[in-house]
Amino acid sequence: MDYNFTEEELSIKDTIGKFAKKEISPFISQIENENKMPDELLSKITKMKISGLPFPEKWGGAGATYISLLLAVEELSHVYMPSIFHPLVNAMAAFGFSNFASDYLKDKYLRRILDGSINAAWAFTEPDTGSDPKQITTKAVKDGDDWILNGTKRFITNSSIADVAAIFAATENGITAFVIDTKNPGYKIGRREKFLAFAGSDNGDVILENARVPAKNVLGKVGRGFEILLAVEVFAKVTACAGNIGLAQSALDHAVKYAKEKTHRGTPIGTKFQMTQWLIATMASNVAASRSFLYSVGAKMDKGDKNLAAESALLKIFTGKCAREVASDAVQVHGAYGITSEFPVERLYRESKFSEVVLGTNEIQRVIAASALLR
Ligand SMILES: Cc1cc2nc3c(=O)[nH]c(=O)nc-3n(C[C@H](O)[C@H](O)[C@H](O)COP(=O)(O)OP(=O)(O)OC[C@H]3O[C@@H](n4cnc5c(N)ncnc54)[C@H](O)[C@@H]3O)c2cc1C
Repeated sequence: MDYNFTEEELSIKDTIGKFAKKEISPFISQIENENKMPDELLSKITKMKISGLPFPEKWGGAGATYISLLLAVEELSHVYMPSIFHPLVNAMAAFGFSNFASDYLKDKYLRRILDGSINAAWAFTEPDTGSDPKQITTKAVKDGDDWILNGTKRFITNSSIADVAAIFAATENGITAFVIDTKNPGYKIGRREKFLAFAGSDNGDVILENARVPAKNVLGKVGRGFEILLAVEVFAKVTACAGNIGLAQSALDHAVKYAKEKTHRGTPIGTKFQMTQWLIATMASNVAASRSFLYSVGAKMDKGDKNLAAESALLKIFTGKCAREVASDAVQVHGAYGITSEFPVERLYRESKFSEVVLGTNEIQRVIAASALLR
């Protein structure tokens, strides 16, 4: 299908695709075995400046389209889905900073996130809530010109490698986002999370213990953090959906390869069994529909449409389901071999659950979409 991508967009897709195959693929088994992304690889990913693609050159971004970022994330995920986490979170922070930060904060942090010299974390979730901002218990209390933050954040990507973090805390008049330097003695890293997949992701608790943050480090306005959260969530959801497409395409490719190679009484199963063909055609239609949906929302982002809360929720529901179903069908095409670690589809199947539980669960996405439709 022709999506009318520009030459620049196609060139970015090609560059990131080649990079992922050459630099990331050789490390996959090591990452899966050691449960850690090697520093050397992380720094190579950072140097590709993927997070900075759609941001203004004025602040160190590439000034490319948002679609370019989607294509880059899709290419990374096609090779290894967990490699998207680190650039995704840096891009989320960059989006939050570029839309809501003062020039002081932009100069100090945004520029360096975009030129790939520092990493960021975006910390909202807590042990007792990831869905309901009103339940946030991390507190920020004013002390002279500073704020003192106390609380625990959970499931925070880039928690141990971040140089700067946006922390959402309850203040008297609502939720406020604070920008904190991770060298701050009050910023502590807690336990690291072990998920069913995503071995390469750096994810864990962030503990704020009397972390003193100057008032000039408030992101946006005091009490208006919820607006920031919602805007960044839309950006993050759509970007992460590109990861769903990359993963689903990878599962489809593996299924097609296997159906051509595995024989039954001398004939490849893809030629012999209509049921195998049915699975492959179902997977392919699922991926094609999801991809078109993604690029249509991406095109709206490029046009500056700020009214995408419901559509991004629908996109996340649709493409997350696509990733899960296509990964499951790919396992099915492999038979019992599909659930052995000998074949990548076993890992893809585990990774495919990612989208339905992060960045707001699918139930919350349905609440967001339905309430917009019923309004
Ligand atoms: C790999 C990974 C990376 C992550 N990275 C980050 C990060 O960098 N920063 C960050 O802040 N968070 C991060 N998270 C956290 C993630 O975004 C949250 O886990 C997610 O939003 C869900 O929150 P929860 O787990 O607290 O679920 P809960 O909110 O506790 O929900 C539990 C269940 O209740 C349901 N539920 C809750 N409220 C409602 C409602 N109103 N209506 C209907 N059903 C409801 C949910 O759908 C779910 O089934 C990450 C998580 C993962 C797995």
